[in-house]
Amino acid sequence: MAGAHFKVLILGAGSGGISVAARLKKHLGGSAIGIIEPAEFHFYQPLWTLVGAGVVAKETTQRPMQSMIPDGVSWIKDHVQNVKAAEKKVVCASGKEITYDFLLVATGLKLDWGKIKGLEGQLGGNGICSIYQYADAEKTAQMIAAFKGGDAIFTMPPVPIKCAGAPQKIMYLAEEIFTKNGVREKSRISFAAAGKVIFGVPAFAAPLMKVAERKKIELKFSHKLIEVKPEAYLAVFEKTVETLVNGETKASVERVELHYDLLHVVPPMSAHDYIRESNLAFVSGPQAGWLKVDQGTLQHQDHANIFGIGDVTGVPNSKTGAAIRKQAPIVTQNMIDVMEGRKATHIYDGYSSCPLITGMGKVILAEFGYDGKLMPSFPMDMTKERRSMWILKKDLLPPMYWHGMMKGWL
Ligand SMILES: Cc1cc2nc3c(=O)[nH]c(=O)nc-3n(C[C@H](O)[C@H](O)[C@H](O)COP(=O)(O)OP(=O)(O)OC[C@H]3O[C@@H](n4cnc5c(N)ncnc54)[C@H](O)[C@@H]3O)c2cc1C
Repeated sequence: MAGAHFKVLILGAGSGGISVAARLKKHLGGSAIGIIEPAEFHFYQPLWTLVGAGVVAKETTQRPMQSMIPDGVSWIKDHVQNVKAAEKKVVCASGKEITYDFLLVATGLKLDWGKIKGLEGQLGGNGICSIYQYADAEKTAQMIAAFKGGDAIFTMPPVPIKCAGAPQKIMYLAEEIFTKNGVREKSRISFAAAGKVIFGVPAFAAPLMKVAERKKIELKFSHKLIEVKPEAYLAVFEKTVETLVNGETKASVERVELHYDLLHVVPPMSAHDYIRESNLAFVSGPQAGWLKVDQGTLQHQDHANIFGIGDVTGVPNSKTGAAIRKQAPIVTQNMIDVMEGRKATHIYDGYSSCPLITGMGKVILAEFGYDGKLMPSFPMDMTKERRSMWILKKDLLPPMYWHGMMKGWL
């Protein structure tokens, strides 16, 4: 089925897709741009952590998609099924084919709930919750508020995931709610993480270890959630055990079952299948399955007319909206340069930021780039918990997102 043609076609109208559409429109005009996006609503996901703690209402995090698409830009309400890069064509689920001169891939990532056996259909019941989906974030708040004590387990899958701090932020908030509700003394809180450290950047891992110690949280590293048995209230983990044999480290895997009364699940994540299974993705290495872009220019390594932004990109950064705020001006300028016959020379330095909520009114603002290089925006010790950074996270960043970043100004 023949469809339209656009000078720039954007796949996905999330944080990355809308930021770049708004910026490109200023240069090209709206009619040159089309966006393929199936969802009725756009979400500001960073607030879901606070929704999960009952601090903000979930409705404040969503806006109708139509209101986000810049005026004059065409919204194709469809689902991308396939990109035929050689033909400069995208095939949609409806069968519609849309051609382009330049393509921006911005479809974010997929939450692989199905990789956890027994989880399907269980979120929101039997003590299982998650802030990683809009509807479930509110249910998480209700389940944390109703917790009567017992075992509360908060899981963290292998990275990369979006907002790698969120799995523990909700735990610190829950701990405070349990204390306020008088059930903390009869509760055991565990952080069961697939990785070996609490946070990937050592400068921030150190204060987070102290927060966990202060809150008497049991840290269970090398624990990957693989199954839930809701009828028995058991979470099953693959625990990696490393032993030293004749000076060599040997790893073995054990199956560990832990009882829970409350289980906060963060699923494994990957690029959507249409990217992962295409020749647009890295086939091997640490970024296998993610969009094969240059980590500086965000231009596709095999197709000069394709760019990527946000969670879908195979770059060694931390996947956040804050990263997109820095990527958007760079990718926009590089696309314009290539359109006008120049090379893509603007470079993204890997900047990402994670407001690490450590309790009500307390945030450590972690800002860093590639290789964990610290990139603070404020001239003070950013490894400290601060009320000012809580205000930034809760009250200042949301309007900056809706009125600045999504309009192409920030
Ligand atoms: C609980 C939680 C807490 C977070 N906290 C923070 C934080 O504190 N700070 C921070 O900076 N970031 C945070 N993030 C991360 C941030 O929200 C994401 O990194 C950001 O939204 C990614 O933007 P994106 O454009 O890549 O993807 P998204 O914003 O997810 O948008 C992807 C879009 O693509 C669409 N799409 C998907 N598949 C297709 C398809 N086949 N065809 C067409 N369209 C498709 C989707 O419908 C969606 O609209 C958090 C995320 C979560 C879930």
